Amino acid sequence: MTEIIVADHIWTGDPAQPLLSPGAIEVDGGVIVSISAVTGARPAGANVTDLRASVVLPGLVNAHAHTPMSIMRGIAEGVSLLTMEGFLQTLRGHEEFLTPELVPAAVDVSLADMIRHGTTMFADQYFYADEILPGVLRSGMRARIAWGIVELGDDEARARELAAATAFAESVPDGSLVQGWVGPHAFFVDNQPEAIRAEVELATRLGIGLHAHFSTSGEEDAFCHAEYGRPALEVMKELGLLDLPLILAHGNTVPVAQLPLLAGTRAAMAVIPSVAMMSGAPEAPVREALDAGVTVAIGSDNVCNNTNADLFEEMRVLGKLAAFSSRTPNQVTSREILEIATVNGHRALAGGPDDGRLMAGAVADLIAVPVHEVRRGPVGAQSLESALVYCTSGASVSHTMVGGSWLMSEGIVRTVDDERAGAQLQTDFNTLIGRKVAAGK
Ligand SMILES: [Zn+2]
Repeated sequence: MTEIIVADHIWTGDPAQPLLSPGAIEVDGGVIVSISAVTGARPAGANVTDLRASVVLPGLVNAHAHTPMSIMRGIAEGVSLLTMEGFLQTLRGHEEFLTPELVPAAVDVSLADMIRHGTTMFADQYFYADEILPGVLRSGMRARIAWGIVELGDDEARARELAAATAFAESVPDGSLVQGWVGPHAFFVDNQPEAIRAEVELATRLGIGLHAHFSTSGEEDAFCHAEYGRPALEVMKELGLLDLPLILAHGNTVPVAQLPLLAGTRAAMAVIPSVAMMSGAPEAPVREALDAGVTVAIGSDNVCNNTNADLFEEMRVLGKLAAFSSRTPNQVTSREILEIATVNGHRALAGGPDDGRLMAGAVADLIAVPVHEVRRGPVGAQSLESALVYCTSGASVSHTMVGGSWLMSEGIVRTVDDERAGAQLQTDFNTLIGRKVAAGK
């Protein structure tokens, strides 16, 4: 039986009919089968969920996350993780004591955090993908989980990691909302050209994508100029990377003149403005990338590098930072920012062409915010799009649906036991620190 969701306002993201007030969405088999304005009496019946005074919008997509890293949230405050010293001092010093059994609770905490703040799909990139997968499947979130690869030119490490990445991608159940991807940590930095060739071959063979850090601080360009006399994106194009679904996380230092190489490809930039700001790094050239025709998506990165995984905040920071640094108010418009967090995210994660918009044929991934929590100015003074970007907190999201299933309703996360996971996370953190102290570090 189809389910019908009714609300006073639906921001569809579909340019043909952006706002329906009120509107109704008919969902069947995880997909939207119809969406329309309600003109007469509101639909009623056992299959109708009437969210009444709510704004419904497409679920947000976090295009760059590291879910296990909730266990280290807070340890890197005041340190830039985009520098090698900062990374070694904090994260690496803890990660060396991290073991698989300490991962699941941290993942559950991250999943609950995302669902709570209106994220319906995410791209993960870390080690321990085997420990990440079960929790994600239970949570009902849509995801691309990339098997993190660091090989540093070592033949044995490369062979081992590629075999493991293959086995992991093949272990993800068919028909689930999850795909296993390949996660080279950073091209040329810790994945040498030989590894990149093998990763391209693997992703092509399995029909999956790649998710890597890129242009956090210019190391790829420095390497490629020294080695090949050309910028990194030119070398990456030759290696076939731009023919695949490819998430390039950060993009802080990507040369603007190189952006046209990404236009019309399946590669996307996942920008994380909060992390650029907190790490004292340059910001990604969002306006220039959009103008060049690049798919720009948004992510949170890890919660050590960022302060949270609230994509409403990340959208707001993106808009403010772009205006601040260009000295141009509204340099990236509210509608563009919403598209970055919704339809562009689905495109970056290799979704269907209309996914991320509320329209017939798209996946039924949506969220609701009570109207009184969208602190909109008077109609005529402020657009709903501006209010969603600049006046709304992710903590106000009341309902989160993925593929036609409610993961959160009435403000309660239904598919992850957040409280239990939070208590276990503290125990796991104490174990981690106990190991560190015992090792005299
Ligand atoms: Zn990252």
